[in-house]
Amino acid sequence: MALVNENFLRLPGSYLFAEIARRVSAYKTAHPSHRVISLGIGDVTRPLAPAVIKALQDATLEMASEETMRGYAPYYGYDFLIDAIVQNDFKARNIAIGADEIFVSDGAKSDTGNIGDVLSTDNIIAVTDPVYPVYVDTNVIAGRAGHLADGRWSSIEYLPCTVKNNFVPDFPKHRVDVVYLCYPNNPTGTTLTRAELEKWVKYALQHGVLLLFDAAYEAFITEANVPHSIYEIEGAERVAIEFRSFSKKAGFTGLRCGYTVIPKELKAFTDTGTEASLNELWQRRQATKFNGTAYIVQRAAEAVYSPEGKKQVDETIRFYMENAQIIKNGLDSAGLKTFGGVNAPYIWLQTPDGKSSWDYFDYLLNGLEIVTTPGAGFGKSGEGFVRLTAFGKRDETLEAVERIIHSRKT
Ligand SMILES: *Cc1c(COP(=O)(O)O)cnc(C)c1O
Repeated sequence: MALVNENFLRLPGSYLFAEIARRVSAYKTAHPSHRVISLGIGDVTRPLAPAVIKALQDATLEMASEETMRGYAPYYGYDFLIDAIVQNDFKARNIAIGADEIFVSDGAKSDTGNIGDVLSTDNIIAVTDPVYPVYVDTNVIAGRAGHLADGRWSSIEYLPCTVKNNFVPDFPKHRVDVVYLCYPNNPTGTTLTRAELEKWVKYALQHGVLLLFDAAYEAFITEANVPHSIYEIEGAERVAIEFRSFSKKAGFTGLRCGYTVIPKELKAFTDTGTEASLNELWQRRQATKFNGTAYIVQRAAEAVYSPEGKKQVDETIRFYMENAQIIKNGLDSAGLKTFGGVNAPYIWLQTPDGKSSWDYFDYLLNGLEIVTTPGAGFGKSGEGFVRLTAFGKRDETLEAVERIIHSRKT
């Protein structure tokens, strides 16, 4: 008799986006001719850069001929992509990350979800609240979360990010082993300055804590005092793993490519106190469970770093960040309170009049025909907020903001 991993049964249903879809669909059915604008889902809308398309086409043609076709890709990525990553994402910022510390993958969701494979189930983990749900759910599946009571898992330490602490989490009150940090942040769109991240690295060094740093939105940073990589901070190579993705940076959500950095200096321990290299364990894990990212996709990712590719990708990012500005300035001018949107494509809107996330979501949907994401879906501290994304079309973004401004005047 096959027994299931009962941890899956403990997971609450993926309530958030299913419930949003249900409410939106009900509204559209009742009002078929109305124009409902979505600023809800965190997916890109702009087409891939021409340089990326060209690389995909060229690589596809290589696959058509016996001389140039490629079979299994190397487990950790092709040298051409790893070299481009080392050069552009690290050397160009004076960060000494070696080619053998980069692991190319099919995206940051897989890697942030799978990293737990190389970590003991006895680790105590901490997450910010609100949080990207992958960090929590994968720890539930692994059996690290305890039981769910009142929206929180008993064995997970939650670090609230609120207006009061300006969305900069305090250090855990209890001993923890692993902390997930996502900056620039999804869902709040806020980030940590260099000085703030330095404090986290210092804390991790002092307490022997592993930082899992998700930098999926690094490309959206506009301010000089915000680090693009945690390895800009001295000592981070001894305490941090960094996750990167081409999804938001270059519109690869449907193409799938990302990478993870695990420095060789990063050590963890066995039960009896023997040091073990996380870089080596991850090599083993990937070689066992992953057969590489598609060749044509890695060529496409390489093209992101070509001179034309950089220019085209930057243009698209600028377009999204203009959307972010339009949303933020518009809502602020309407007397609403917003956070984020400066170094990330998300605006975290505090609901007016103390409305709950879902009540305000319903008001925006039924009253103004705008879809957002209720902050409460990302954790307890997300209550009283909704998330708006800057990934929408320009005319729809402008119209949504106009609708909100108009509604505040009448
Ligand atoms: C979108 C996103 C990712 C990227 O996931 P991919 O699997 O690379 O598409 C990672 N982390 C966060 C917080 C995200 O919002």
